[in-house]
Amino acid sequence: MNTAFITGITGQDGAYLAKFLLEKNYRVIGMIRRSASSDVIGERLRWLGVLDHVELVDGNLTDLSSLIRLLGQYKPDEVYNFAAQSFVATSWQQPLVTGTVTGMGAANMLEALRIAHPVGRFYQASSSEMFGKIQAAAQSETTPFYPRSPYAAAKLYAHWMTVNYRESFGLYASSGILFNHESPLRGIEFVTRRITDGVARIKLGLADHLTLGNLGARRDWGHARDYVKAMWLMLQQDVPDDYVIATGHDATVQEFCNLAFGHVGLDASAYIRVDSARLRPAEVDVLRGDPAKANNALHWHAETPLPALVAEMVEADLVRHGRAR
Ligand code: NDP
Ligand code: GDP
Repeated sequence: MNTAFITGITGQDGAYLAKFLLEKNYRVIGMIRRSASSDVIGERLRWLGVLDHVELVDGNLTDLSSLIRLLGQYKPDEVYNFAAQSFVATSWQQPLVTGTVTGMGAANMLEALRIAHPVGRFYQASSSEMFGKIQAAAQSETTPFYPRSPYAAAKLYAHWMTVNYRESFGLYASSGILFNHESPLRGIEFVTRRITDGVARIKLGLADHLTLGNLGARRDWGHARDYVKAMWLMLQQDVPDDYVIATGHDATVQEFCNLAFGHVGLDASAYIRVDSARLRPAEVDVLRGDPAKANNALHWHAETPLPALVAEMVEADLVRHGRAR
């Protein structure tokens, strides 16, 4: 039986990856940080029906000693580093926390692996935000980076540390440069969940409008369920490498809204209000990935079209709010 160690298991990707690996008969160890809300922290794992099948252990990405101890104790075959301050907008409010967790945290993981368990295979959750002010119409593994937020700068450091530890110490360390991926388990602060949650509340009569920021931003949105499979495939290759994971298609925030409101038979224009306070100090206007390398080398393809993703998210939020009524 293979053992996987996941940091950030309580987040969206952690939950989907845990389910995916359990179905492959892995032993799944998930690291959680101490929280006063430990009774609700496993909500996403519970939603997917896997909470009772993972082993949750106490650690923190900012505490190197906890990482060394855990990796030395469990000696996992595969290590997935998802833990991060992952919200771009918050990274301007808390740039130092973002640097410490999202950037330095990855370095801590690499150091812990090098010290305690250098044969473990390592996956780093890198981000399309590293492309920021894009230098090519479709971004691939060879497109230059241009980060536009403290989050993106921290992820860039983590990405290059992953490459560097591979080249310096021969660690099996791969970096997945993932474009936005969503699901019913996406954090409520991200624009897609904000929209589907808002649509559900409006449809159920719990709200009468939805406030957003830049409706013209374009993103390449895929489904988290599809994307965790790509992460696993990366760690099954003979040699570690870096891969862009994306659908290859982009849409605007407005278009996402149209799909979400349309799904429940409402006209988006009647409900959306724009608040300039929601605009960012520096925006990433457009992201669209070129997943050709992953398509060819991993035989991976995004499977969920945007309308199906939106429909699944809206339906899940209708259920959540329907229950709450
Ligand atoms: P989430 O924000 O849903 O999850 C982040 C996880 O990190 C949570 O489990 C959180 O724990 C944990 N965490 C935060 N700080 C610490 C810490 N100091 N020590 C230990 N754990 C910590 O992220 P996603 O699942 O959406 O994304 C997974 C990773 O992929 C992230 O690194 C993200 O930046 C990256 N990524 C995501 C993309 C996306 O579109 N989803 C795109 C590209 C990259 P807690 O529950 O306690 O808060
Ligand atoms: P990001 O790509 O990781 O920053 O993911 P987000 O979902 O947070 O944001 C995607 C895009 O939606 C960005 O260009 C935001 O500026 C834009 N956006 C517009 N309105 C909102 C909003 O109300 N909340 C968020 N989170 N993003 C918004």
